[in-house]
Amino acid sequence: MSGPAITPWVVGNWKMNPMRADAKQLVQELKQLLLNQNIEESKCHIGVSPVALELQSIQAQFSDCSRSISMVAQDLSRVAGTGAYTGEISAELLKDSAVECVLVGHSERREVFGDTPAVLNEKIKNALNAGLTVIYCVGESLEQRESGQAEHTVLQQICDIASVVQPEQWNKIIVAYEPIWAIGTGKTASPEDAQAMHAKIREGLSQISPAGQGMAILYGGSVKPENAVELAACPDINGALVGGASLNAESFYKIAQAFANTK
Ligand code: PEP
Repeated sequence: MSGPAITPWVVGNWKMNPMRADAKQLVQELKQLLLNQNIEESKCHIGVSPVALELQSIQAQFSDCSRSISMVAQDLSRVAGTGAYTGEISAELLKDSAVECVLVGHSERREVFGDTPAVLNEKIKNALNAGLTVIYCVGESLEQRESGQAEHTVLQQICDIASVVQPEQWNKIIVAYEPIWAIGTGKTASPEDAQAMHAKIREGLSQISPAGQGMAILYGGSVKPENAVELAACPDINGALVGGASLNAESFYKIAQAFANTK
């Protein structure tokens, strides 16, 4: 059974990279590629996620781009609004700076910075209440995969957020399935394994909300131009969250092109 058409998303997660001059060059090269051969907005949403410090500057640099590029924050505060919270950036402050989306639950946040399900729920609640779109990252470790716990782990991560997302807010959630063992390692889940997990995620989402059938589920984990076409051909893979390859304009452009042309 084929569900509703879903416009893919290709989002570059720049993580704690690059230095300003390199970021400027990256934006210029990406704009030039899009100018030479545009990727229609109706075929693929494109977003980039620079460090918070550079969100506004990168947004300004894309202002004369031949198409729109969404600004995606890499994280947000568990505290809403404004106030005496040194070092924090709230959902409202992101929204006030014209940021549209935010990553929540990236495995690096969960593993290195101790973002627990409770903390992630606070972040998601704040983001949705401020009108941001959330890219919610889920994924199993190698140990969990090898012990047959991958599906359970990922579906639990989906269930974790069910209590904070209001029925009308599910259309502001994008899920990114990122097996931890595939992030930054050069190893990619096979298209068959990735599709199987994406189908399970869609099934889980659909049990929680009728919006599940139309939600974008992105794949992340060493996506590169060489594997993007095969991944894009999978029916439940609706885009990619790209780390390393997004720091190279041509690679990132080719990944977006693969999804725009295949979907
Ligand atoms: C990521 O960190 O979201 C990611 C998918 O990284 P990479 O593409 O480098 O594996």
